[in-house]
Amino acid sequence: MRDVIIVGAGPGGLLLAQHLEEHRIDYQILERGKIAQSWRMMRQGMTLLSPSVPGTDWTSLTLTRPLWAIPGVQKPFPTREDFLCYVDAFAREQMLRTVENTAVMRAAVVPGGFTVETPAGEKSCRFLVIATGSSSVPAYPDIPGVASSPFAIHSCDFVHCMAYLGKRVLVIGAGNSAAEIAMALAGTARVTLCTRGPLRYFSETGDLEHIRGSSESPLKECVRFGIISLRETDPPVHVAGSRVRFQNGEEKEYDWIICATGYRPSWIPINGGSVRTGEDGYPVISRTGESSLPGLYFCGSLARFNKRCAFIHGFRNYVEKVFWDIADRL
Ligand SMILES: Cc1cc2nc3c(=O)[nH]c(=O)nc-3n(C[C@H](O)[C@H](O)[C@H](O)COP(=O)(O)OP(=O)(O)OC[C@H]3O[C@@H](n4cnc5c(N)ncnc54)[C@H](O)[C@@H]3O)c2cc1C
Repeated sequence: MRDVIIVGAGPGGLLLAQHLEEHRIDYQILERGKIAQSWRMMRQGMTLLSPSVPGTDWTSLTLTRPLWAIPGVQKPFPTREDFLCYVDAFAREQMLRTVENTAVMRAAVVPGGFTVETPAGEKSCRFLVIATGSSSVPAYPDIPGVASSPFAIHSCDFVHCMAYLGKRVLVIGAGNSAAEIAMALAGTARVTLCTRGPLRYFSETGDLEHIRGSSESPLKECVRFGIISLRETDPPVHVAGSRVRFQNGEEKEYDWIICATGYRPSWIPINGGSVRTGEDGYPVISRTGESSLPGLYFCGSLARFNKRCAFIHGFRNYVEKVFWDIADRL
């Protein structure tokens, strides 16, 4: 029986592994794909929302090993490729013990700890840490007809603007993905951005939920030029195939509807015990990341110590608390 198994080799799992490695604690990370698989699946060329420069580094996993110090990294906002190379090097150079291509299907509570089931067989541990991220299950808006429309996709399935050349595209959402996709389509498709409430900007509110990284200013200008048409506070209320009815009663036809409406929290099933969840669907955790099941911890963006934990700079300091809690009990 290992001391610790971490499920997921994203930023959260790797950062915890670094602490365990440094203190020579017996652990293993099980990763369904390659290191930082979630980032490998994101759009090529995507620019991060979080800056990484000396003094304002919201992206590096640790400030002692910063992303911005790598030659050639785009500043102030790195690209997905910069980040992916950094995370991959972070894991490999420190020889963090990761078993790739090993998805954990489920876990079970057993005397003294947990077992996890993988295609390569069962493994057991005293402490189990779930670090599988908060963006594995796309959330669709609760609009009648959208789920059954063959013309509606989720933003995670948007690959490249060229597939939408000359098409009428409705982008639903007011977050960063909506803004970025609308910008990626601008000039190629006839794009409408449609929001439930007023479109807000980080530069005006300082609220992280309104951050749009490098797309904020171009988005405002494209709306002003009419290159992107904005339906603010006028959400769709019904979808029938390609026909969309808006709150103000107007109906329009679109070739594609892209739902940039985020993700919902989800994790592997745990046999023999249930994890208590909050109203937001995230696991209820202690101040050190332990769930309602003793010995089962959450780490990274699934551990919502506060809403900033959706971002690396929000959760990176909390990972150490998870580490010390486990280390103290070994
Ligand atoms: C489009 C988009 C853009 C973003 N941009 C930023 C940004 O600019 N800055 C920022 O700070 N944050 C950004 N985020 C949030 C970002 O995802 C988190 O900050 C960070 O990646 C969370 O790290 P994590 O380790 O919790 O989860 P993840 O990075 O999602 O890593 C989870 C890992 O678990 C693995 N896994 C999942 N299920 C299993 C399983 N059953 N068995 C084994 N392995 C499994 C996955 O393959 C993955 O490697 C963005 C998110 C999205 C969706």
